[in-house]
Amino acid sequence: MYNVLAIMRGTTVDGPGFRTSIYLAGCAHRCEGCHNPASWDKNGGSSMSLDEIMEIVRDEDFDVTLSGGDPLFNPESTARLVEALKNDGRNVWIYTGYNWEEILSDRSLLNAVEKADVLVDGPFLLHLKDADLLFRGSSNQRLILIQESLTSGNAVLFPRS
Ligand code: SF4
Repeated sequence: MYNVLAIMRGTTVDGPGFRTSIYLAGCAHRCEGCHNPASWDKNGGSSMSLDEIMEIVRDEDFDVTLSGGDPLFNPESTARLVEALKNDGRNVWIYTGYNWEEILSDRSLLNAVEKADVLVDGPFLLHLKDADLLFRGSSNQRLILIQESLTSGNAVLFPRS
């Protein structure tokens, strides 16, 4: 089961095009200036099954973004969700407070993201906040092309970063 804070259909701020954004409860990063501290509680939101989430996703042709909270707070559950979304043909973006290098060194975190398309990495850092950045809140965060980065061994950035 998943603790889901919200599912927003037709968003344009969490990646390119119209997307379905799924906000998952639970985060341990405690960033100063976090946009939603209420999302830190892993028991927050509504309990939903994978099938229930996918049913909502399939209502639209939109690609999908996983945010929170931090979807990697529950990496095993997120791995199953990403797999279901990719099997359904969706482009998948993931927002996380972990940085790419931390994920590469943790098998469980890597397992959660390795089938997805783009990772928005790193904690929100208040002193690096920049409202003009594309799809992210602070300039330390990167839009990382996951498949290209895994193939090349270096963090490859989304072209419009
Ligand atoms: S990673 Fe995101 S949800 Fe978690 S504390 Fe930082 S800004 Fe808030």
